[in-house]
Amino acid sequence: MSDYTPPLRDIRFVMEHIADLDQISATELFGHADPDTIHDVLAEVGRFMAEVVAPTNRDGDTIGASWHEDGSVTLPDSFKTAYEKWVASGFGAMPFDPDYGGAGFPWISAIAVQEMLTSANMALSLCPLLTQGAIDAIHAHGSDDQRAAYLPKMMTGEWSGTMNLTEPQAGSDVGAVTTKAEPRGDGSWAITGQKIFITWGEHDVADNIIHLVLARTPDSPPGTKGISMFVVPKFLIGSDGSLGDRNTASCISIEHKLGIHGSPTCVMSYDGAIGWLVGGEHEGMRNMFTMMNNARLSVGLEGLSLSERAYQQALQYAQDREQGRAIGAPAGTSSPIIEHPDVRRMLMTQRAWIDGMRALVYTNAGALDRADSARSAGDADGARHWQEFADLLIPLTKGLCTDVGTEMTSLALQIHGGMGYVEETGAAQHYRDARIAPIYEGTNGIQAADLVGRKLGMRSGGVVTDLLDEFDARADALDAADDMGAFGERLRAAVVDARAATEHLLQTAPNDPRSLLGGSTPYLRLLGTTVCAGLLAKGALAADVDDEFNATKRASARFFGEQILPTVSGLLPSITASADALYELDPTQLTTR
Ligand SMILES: Cc1cc2nc3c(=O)[nH]c(=O)nc-3n(C[C@H](O)[C@H](O)[C@H](O)COP(=O)(O)OP(=O)(O)OC[C@H]3O[C@@H](n4cnc5c(N)ncnc54)[C@H](O)[C@@H]3O)c2cc1C
Repeated sequence: MSDYTPPLRDIRFVMEHIADLDQISATELFGHADPDTIHDVLAEVGRFMAEVVAPTNRDGDTIGASWHEDGSVTLPDSFKTAYEKWVASGFGAMPFDPDYGGAGFPWISAIAVQEMLTSANMALSLCPLLTQGAIDAIHAHGSDDQRAAYLPKMMTGEWSGTMNLTEPQAGSDVGAVTTKAEPRGDGSWAITGQKIFITWGEHDVADNIIHLVLARTPDSPPGTKGISMFVVPKFLIGSDGSLGDRNTASCISIEHKLGIHGSPTCVMSYDGAIGWLVGGEHEGMRNMFTMMNNARLSVGLEGLSLSERAYQQALQYAQDREQGRAIGAPAGTSSPIIEHPDVRRMLMTQRAWIDGMRALVYTNAGALDRADSARSAGDADGARHWQEFADLLIPLTKGLCTDVGTEMTSLALQIHGGMGYVEETGAAQHYRDARIAPIYEGTNGIQAADLVGRKLGMRSGGVVTDLLDEFDARADALDAADDMGAFGERLRAAVVDARAATEHLLQTAPNDPRSLLGGSTPYLRLLGTTVCAGLLAKGALAADVDDEFNATKRASARFFGEQILPTVSGLLPSITASADALYELDPTQLTTR
């Protein structure tokens, strides 16, 4: 089984040359988190992930989570030990409010922690990820008492958190939730209903589990407008913070899944469980939206993290495995498969996409930090600018990186040949684990709809076109560089397509929503890939050309521009086509005869 090497230099490169960490650290809000401090901490985090967490990944897959008749769920022993050490490390608290025990570091630094944690063990990483979502919700919308009661222990990880939206009839359509909340007369509520697919809904690695549950209060209006959010702890908490009685929230089964076996996916039954309203009545859906950006960013990151881990393993295999004679190698010898052009193609494709995804994810996180710091400095224009930019990138990060994550883990498996298809090498685990990310936290179809339905129209398309203008300027600079080949030309061509698609969709939106949505997924791919290329161009142009490591980054950026970016040039017709072709056959005609 291969080890995991934290890609610290790659992360540093993106933070320095693409996501402008220095500018984030120069703001008043994040002034205490200077780049050197952040990189020192990340070096420690990397060591922790490689030594403590990465070795547990296989146990997650082969032992997995186990459900027991008494409703308990147990994880492999190695998970418990690693989680205990994670709590002791304090790394999880980095981005949170110092008033409750966090370090107040920028989100971009927390994303680096999360990248390494997810590469090391995605199934385990989901416990802190869901906790983070619950922390954000309570912090943003909870009362002072709720914050004081829950946040400190959630920030350390002693207590974990969950997000309970999904029910059998309410998946993408969260407005169809039927779980009920009845007032108990003392300010608390009785929550009754069943939730499915609840990640880390029950487990034995933390002392308490703080469930956030969407439910309907009596006589609430139908749809999303009638949904409220409740906090429902597994163990009720005394006024002195001690754990009291077990609440009537239980796990009645866990799912058997394609991947992430070490992440319990629970069917949760709430049987008059005691909960408290978080935020106002009927504000549940709106409040959920405030933390969706971070959650979607973190799930997009999973595509990057698993691609990185799978790539490292594939690279090792390609160097070790000998088959055939490479072109130009002496007769009678056999060569490592890394010498064959097609294997090089697969490796370079992974490497370039990993760089592109990392550029996108960290830029997105940095934009959220810039929006926060502008808001805290009272700079309304700056806050709006950065928030719009971050909002545009969110569906690209979530949709593109998770789709590409499945493709890159598949390529890594392909490099292993038959040994990739058998479980022994572990290549298959990354592929199976990656497959969930395009599905949860809003399927990628929903991300594409968000992109064309909400994001594209910001400033009448101005947020997109400002970015494309920047890329045009960068294409000119690439032309002037000695070692960027046709990257500038290809970037300019992609921008032309992205502009045409954007203009078309903006015109289509008001009168033909079906065609708008019909073209949304190819549009996300076209725009997302162009954005990755534009960001890689920024890094390539900013990096010192004489540095050996930077040269590898420039080569991979050029490969992206010359060989990956052109793959989206054929998408324009499917974006601009009318949806008529999608509906030409009615459902009965789609039936196989
Ligand atoms: C392993 C795992 C962990 C999960 N963890 C959690 C969790 O912790 N908490 C939680 O609340 N939920 C969780 N979920 C649920 C997850 O968020 C949902 O599965 C997801 O939102 C999709 O809902 P669905 O499965 O009902 O699919 P459906 O909504 O039935 O969608 C089926 C297909 O139809 C498409 N579709 C549906 N509606 C539209 C539309 N309006 N426009 C375009 N396409 C559409 C979808 O894109 C998809 O391809 C988890 C799921 C899994 C499998």
